[in-house]
Amino acid sequence: MTDKENIKKTGGSDLMDKVVSLCKRRGFIFPGSEIYGGLQNSWDYGPLGAELKKNIKDEWWNRFVRQRSDMVGLDAALIMNPKVWEASGHLATFNDPLVECKKCHARYRADQTPGLAYSVEKLSTGIETKHLAVAQGTKCASCGEIWFLGKTLESPKQFNLMLKTFLGPAQEQANTVYFRPEIAQAMFVNFKNVLDTSRKRLPFGIASQGSAFRNEITPGNFIFRTREFDLMEFEYFINPKDWEKTFEYWLTEMKRWLHDLGVTSEHLHFVEVSKEDRAHYSQRTVDVEYDYPFGQKELYGLAYRGDFDLKSHAEKSGADLTYTDPEDQKNKFIPHVIEPSFGLNRSILVALLEAYDEEKIAGDEEDVRVVMRFPKWVAPVKVAILPLSKKDELAVIAKPLYAHLSKLFVCDYDETQSIGKRYRRQDEIGTPYCVTVDFETIADKSVTVRDRDTMKQERVLIAELDRYLSGKLTS
Ligand SMILES: [Zn+2]
Repeated sequence: MTDKENIKKTGGSDLMDKVVSLCKRRGFIFPGSEIYGGLQNSWDYGPLGAELKKNIKDEWWNRFVRQRSDMVGLDAALIMNPKVWEASGHLATFNDPLVECKKCHARYRADQTPGLAYSVEKLSTGIETKHLAVAQGTKCASCGEIWFLGKTLESPKQFNLMLKTFLGPAQEQANTVYFRPEIAQAMFVNFKNVLDTSRKRLPFGIASQGSAFRNEITPGNFIFRTREFDLMEFEYFINPKDWEKTFEYWLTEMKRWLHDLGVTSEHLHFVEVSKEDRAHYSQRTVDVEYDYPFGQKELYGLAYRGDFDLKSHAEKSGADLTYTDPEDQKNKFIPHVIEPSFGLNRSILVALLEAYDEEKIAGDEEDVRVVMRFPKWVAPVKVAILPLSKKDELAVIAKPLYAHLSKLFVCDYDETQSIGKRYRRQDEIGTPYCVTVDFETIADKSVTVRDRDTMKQERVLIAELDRYLSGKLTS
C-alpha cells in the first residue's frame, strides 16, 4: 500500500523538496561551506552521501574495469597542458551565450532565460549566425528593468566555460592553465602509453573516474548542475568497421547499469541526437534523459566520436597514435572510439529520487513511513545493530556483534530511543537489514532480523548471521 505513484504524479517539486530535505537532515548531502553562508551551488557529501557515492563509483569500476579483460583504468591529473584544450577545441568553442542587463549588470544565459529566444543558424559553409529575440515586456529578474536589445540589454557574448587558474608563482598569461572540463582528453592523450604498456588489442577501452569543472553561468537543481562535478567514462577503441554493433552493445550495457541502479525504465528516454545537433565528427549520439521532478533532462550520453580526438592530438602533438593490426602488419590506422559517459552526481540524484518512498502503515491513519528503497548494493548502511535496551547484559552481546559484522558490511550501531523509532530511522536512510538483540538473545543465542521492504522479522542464530546476511545482501 504505497502512495509513491501519487507523490510522483501530483508534484514533482514536492518530491524534490522532500529528497533535498532528507539529504540534509540525515547527512547525505549538505550545502557546501554552509557556516559561511555557502558557496553558489556547491554541495558536500556527508557521512551517508560519502558511502553512497563510493558504492556507485566502486560498483561501476568493478563492473566495467576489473571484471573485464578488454578494459583498463586511468587516473589522470586534473590540470593538463593547455595545448590539450587547444587540440580538443575547448578553448575556442566551449562557450555559452551570455547577455548582460545594462542597468544592474546581472548576467543571464541567452538560451535559458524566459522571454529570450536564442537560436544559432548553421550555414552549409560552417559559419554560424546567432539570433536573439526579446519578447515585449521582458524584465530583468534582478532589477526589474524592461529589456530592449542593444539599449537596456547587451547583445549576447560568448562566455568560455573553462575554469582558469595559474600554475607557479607568477600570475601571468604564460602560466594560465585550466581545470579539466571533461575527463575524456586524458584517455586520448595517454592512448599510446596505455597501448604500449598494457599490450591490449582492439577492441579495448580506457576507463576513468574523477572531477571536472565548468564555469556554468546558471548552475542549479540541487546536485544536477554544479560547477564542480564527477564523471565516470570510458573511451572504447575499435576498428571503424565495428562501430554500429559496438554502439548497440554499449547502449544495452548502459540500460543494464541503470536497471541495477534502481531506475524505472518508464522514467528514461533514449534520445537519438539529430544530424544537425550532433558534433560534426559523430555519426551517432544518444542522449540518455531522465524524468527529473524539474523536467526531462540529460543523465548520461553515448557518442560515436570516430577518430576525431586521436587524429587531432596526433596532428597537434606530432605523436604517432596509430594502431597496427596484429594480423596484417601493413594495416596501420587511427582507432575509432565509442564513448559511454556517466555523470556520477546525476547517478546519485536519480538513485535518491527513485528510492524515495512513503508508505501508509495499515491500521494507522496518521502513520506514514518514509523509506529509501535503494538496491541493496547502493544502500550506504547495510546492517544496523540495535540492542533493545542500553543495559549491559545486551551490550556485551551487541557490541562484539557490531565489531564482527562491520568487518563484512557497513554497519550502524544505535541504542537510543524506542525500537520502533530506530527502525524508522534506518528505513529513512535505506538500511536493508536491522538486527535486534533482545533479552531472549541471552538464552537462545538468536537475534531478530527485520527486512526494510517487507518489515517482516525473522529469528536467526548469531552463529549463522554472517552467512544469512551475506546471502541476503548479495541476492
Ligand atoms: Zn538588471
